[in-house]
Amino acid sequence: MTIVAQAPNHTCPLCESNSTSPRQGYQHIMPGEWSLYQCLDCRTSFIDPIPDSEILAKYYDENYYGHGEGKFLGPVERIVQFFRYLRARTVRRLTPAGRVLDVGCGRGLMLRFLKSWGYEVDGIELDTMAAVRARQNLNQEIFHTLEEPDRFLRQQYQAVCFWHSLEHMPQPGKALEIADRLLSPGGLLVIAAPHMESIQSRLSGASWLHLDLPRHLVHFDMERLAEFLQSRGYQLIKHQHFSQEYNVIDTLCYLYEVLGFKRLYPFSLIQGMHRHRTGGDCHTLKTIAGLSLMLPLTGASFLIANYFSLLRSGSTTTLFLRKALDLSN
Ligand SMILES: [Zn+2]
Repeated sequence: MTIVAQAPNHTCPLCESNSTSPRQGYQHIMPGEWSLYQCLDCRTSFIDPIPDSEILAKYYDENYYGHGEGKFLGPVERIVQFFRYLRARTVRRLTPAGRVLDVGCGRGLMLRFLKSWGYEVDGIELDTMAAVRARQNLNQEIFHTLEEPDRFLRQQYQAVCFWHSLEHMPQPGKALEIADRLLSPGGLLVIAAPHMESIQSRLSGASWLHLDLPRHLVHFDMERLAEFLQSRGYQLIKHQHFSQEYNVIDTLCYLYEVLGFKRLYPFSLIQGMHRHRTGGDCHTLKTIAGLSLMLPLTGASFLIANYFSLLRSGSTTTLFLRKALDLSN
């Protein structure tokens, strides 16, 4: 029997439907009794209740944003910079010139590439620490939220990007409405986010890396998100299912967990936060086993994750959409 929750507590944050139900297998899965609900219309899943800002702030600490100049260890940091370059190159291919807004710009790495290629850029970053770094990287002001109407003019951007930021927003539907007002007719909208209905998400269940509660407040069925935007006048240019940056690591976490390692074991290693604890021979042996498995499991994860992407079920996907031209002028 489907339990339909009562309005207004469980209203869908994307389409505002009141037809929602608790998502089975995701009830009370975090301290604080958070559960996931799912919209029965657009299949968007969302955390309920929304944690207050004080609690959320605890989850956006230095472990999340990194220490010092870089977020990760040296070699990994260079790989991250390369992926940001690829993002910038993709935007350049689809938007040859103009003004670009990056919502959730982090340290401004993608915008720095675009700015060096002659684009005018703006970044929005909620986190103070990341915004300071973005300001240094771009040598310009960074905005705090999308909801600053005095600062943002209508239809001034040729591209608006949400690279893994929309799932952090409590009201993604409203954020997309604002983005639509800021985007020029014919402009490019980019949304990259975890795909809640992906094969890896279903295999991992509540352990899925990209679930990332409570930082990820909303989880999309990316196919349905594309349909939602197409129904609002956008043309889907491309649905990218491959992501070597995001879609291998969660499969790797899953394989480790299947073999009896703690949740997110390899992720800890990559972020440089894995600390060798003097926990006795048993712990040392497990660490050696974990490290020796890294190479073969990474290879296996690469193949498995890309096979899922080939099946159009990447664990994170990216939508590239074109706003309709204004034919009234
Ligand atoms: Zn909905």
